[in-house]
Amino acid sequence: MKRVIRPGATLGVLGGGQLGRMFTLAAHELGYRVHVLASEWNSPCGQAADAEFVAGLDDTAKVAEFLAGVDVVTYETENIPVEVIEQASDRIPVCPGRDLLFLSQHRLREKGALRDHGFPVCDFLAIDDPHALRQAVQKLGLPSVLKTASGGYDGKGQWLLRSDTDLAQVAEEACAAQEPVPVGLPNQANWILESYVPFECEFSVVAVRGSSGEFASYGPIRNDHARHILDVSCCPALLPRTSTQQALQIARDLADTWAIVGVFCIEFFLVADGQVLINEIAPRPHNSGHLTIDAHDSSQFEQQVRAICGLPLGSARQSSPAAMANLLGDLWQAGQPHWEAALADPRVKLHLYGKRDPRVGRKMGHLTVLADSAEEARHLVLSARDRLLQFRHD
Ligand code: AMP
Repeated sequence: MKRVIRPGATLGVLGGGQLGRMFTLAAHELGYRVHVLASEWNSPCGQAADAEFVAGLDDTAKVAEFLAGVDVVTYETENIPVEVIEQASDRIPVCPGRDLLFLSQHRLREKGALRDHGFPVCDFLAIDDPHALRQAVQKLGLPSVLKTASGGYDGKGQWLLRSDTDLAQVAEEACAAQEPVPVGLPNQANWILESYVPFECEFSVVAVRGSSGEFASYGPIRNDHARHILDVSCCPALLPRTSTQQALQIARDLADTWAIVGVFCIEFFLVADGQVLINEIAPRPHNSGHLTIDAHDSSQFEQQVRAICGLPLGSARQSSPAAMANLLGDLWQAGQPHWEAALADPRVKLHLYGKRDPRVGRKMGHLTVLADSAEEARHLVLSARDRLLQFRHD
């Protein structure tokens, strides 16, 4: 029989970042308590949670203490050793579970599994060490993209190869680069070479599957990156109709293939002929889904709570076109951003994550605007973000 975890129970989150924080806020609205296991005190999630445990994920005693106090556990980052998930699943449900997490931790494992199940991905080759790069490039051709199989994010551990000169330089740089932390199986190649995808745009689908197989999805959401970090997301993405249908069907099939219980995100490339290719999967809510907090009947975080607790899913209806712009630490470098100027337009919603140290490139918060069209929402949210840097007279 389906297990329902009812309001009043305690939900556990592994990871103390903003995704855990927004999950916690949604869980509180539904009457749950939240405990977080974070790597440092006063984490964005810990500030909102009912209890914050601070320990490394290799601290088995502390992890056990944390797990003993929760009725179900989820995670807000894919950097969770699968052993921790296995330790937890001995006693309580862990959502979305081990398998999707394990795949998403290793690009080769992920792309290989997707291809084996018939999902569309770009051509790729495994590379055991960057010295073998030249042979792989001969097979895939230039341009191509070399990535560390694990441990890379926001463009780190990634090299674009356009020419033989790039190839020579990158082989040297990649050889010298710190070995990525190997995750999972022994003898798995540490590098992946992907053919370069000449995409027209990047987009994502955020989706949720419940324990009885019920399903809801958001998007497609169009994503623009700056310096490899998500910059702006807009929904609707205004893609060709067949591409939208294909992407939503892929999300549904993928959810069923891995019997996912919880929220996940698929990042896609749209290529010239309207075909879609999967770039990667996140086994958790996603930055591009933050606009669902303001623009949809139930946010991605509320759905995460409902799915992991065995409650019926909420409506994923979008009330209005929307755009979201990330606020990186860069905006703080000349002092506090000018909040009143950004919020002077009453349509602008501000979400800050409670981070003290505004380092360059660090995600500190985001703005969302709803408008009559995605283009207008995009224009308004970017104008609001620009106003954050306006000169202050006080
Ligand atoms: P990733 O870390 O795989 O999400 O890659 C970060 C960004 O690099 C993506 O959002 C794309 O803009 C770009 N990128 C990654 N892989 C490829 C590829 N095979 N072809 C073209 N661009 C890519």
